[in-house]
Amino acid sequence: MSNLDRVKINCIIKAKNFFRSFSLKKGKEKRKKKKGKEKMKINNINIYNNYNKTFQANPASQAVKNLSERDKNIIKKYMTGLSYRLKMTGEELNYFHHIRTRKRLEKEAYQYIAKKLDIPKEILPPLVQVTGDNRADYSYAYLDNVIQANSKLQTPKNEIFSSMRHEFQHFMQICNMLRTEGLADEVQTYLTSASINDRKEFIANLIKSSNYKMLNPEESPNAAWLNSLCDALQNQDAGAFDERFKPMEESIKQMWLQMKEASTKHWGVIKQNSGEARNNRVLFEDLKKYKQNGDIIDWAINKVEKDASLAEDFTYNEYNQINQGCYIRNEKRIRDALEKDKFFQNLQKIARERQKSNT
Ligand SMILES: [Zn+2]
Repeated sequence: MSNLDRVKINCIIKAKNFFRSFSLKKGKEKRKKKKGKEKMKINNINIYNNYNKTFQANPASQAVKNLSERDKNIIKKYMTGLSYRLKMTGEELNYFHHIRTRKRLEKEAYQYIAKKLDIPKEILPPLVQVTGDNRADYSYAYLDNVIQANSKLQTPKNEIFSSMRHEFQHFMQICNMLRTEGLADEVQTYLTSASINDRKEFIANLIKSSNYKMLNPEESPNAAWLNSLCDALQNQDAGAFDERFKPMEESIKQMWLQMKEASTKHWGVIKQNSGEARNNRVLFEDLKKYKQNGDIIDWAINKVEKDASLAEDFTYNEYNQINQGCYIRNEKRIRDALEKDKFFQNLQKIARERQKSNT
């Protein structure tokens, strides 16, 4: 991808932020003029209820036929987004808005969201501080079940809470896949072997980059084990490496078994053939396609990412007290603007081709 393309993508992201700030201002105005707010809310609720009623009661009804595919998708997104809200009280919002430092806000947001999503303690992903990732301040390392935070935060204060919600959504996606009937075992097997390979690769790279340096057992509790792996690597003995890796492999297996069992026990089984199960299958297929070093198009078309971004958007609105009802209108406006954009059309073409070649 050329630099120019990157600039254009930035413009699109900026456009989205512009609409965000637009609705932020609007939201403030509307709070003053209560009547106008009420009216708009009613309009959006009408669209929503109408969709809900007609679509679910009678899918072939004229009203739904008249909606374009695009509008149906926007409304579906809206409904899903609503279910991702945390339902914060005014008091809670007030509390968070008065937290002074960003790191403290980060820590409290982490604790609050974990509690709100009702995550069992034994599988709660720890919040770990890392250095040197300039791509994003937060990420969910799903193969380790860890939320990583950049120790030098760049994220503005009003985005920290929603960014944290984004990472937790990735965690929830994994849990939901692991408790879906007819999918769970496949997901567990996949995550186990992907984690084992990932950890092997990580350790091998570590040893190679240290130039096969032997560790002092007095300095590191894992020295004996790491040295035995170092030996095997230096002798190019893959069999010995795998053999010595076995204890680690066992603990990884246990970790995924626990993730599956704890989330199923806590939140219940997702029935096969339900809409949720179908959705989780789609997410799983996209998760497998995820490339660590993929470009922005891979990122933009990935449904796992889209779903987490939706949770983030709705939490952002909630946290910054923006009327969620504007969502459908804003989405439409953004779509309208994008669809006229030549670059966006090209992007869509590339995305479609990529999706085709990936399946
Ligand atoms: Zn993400």
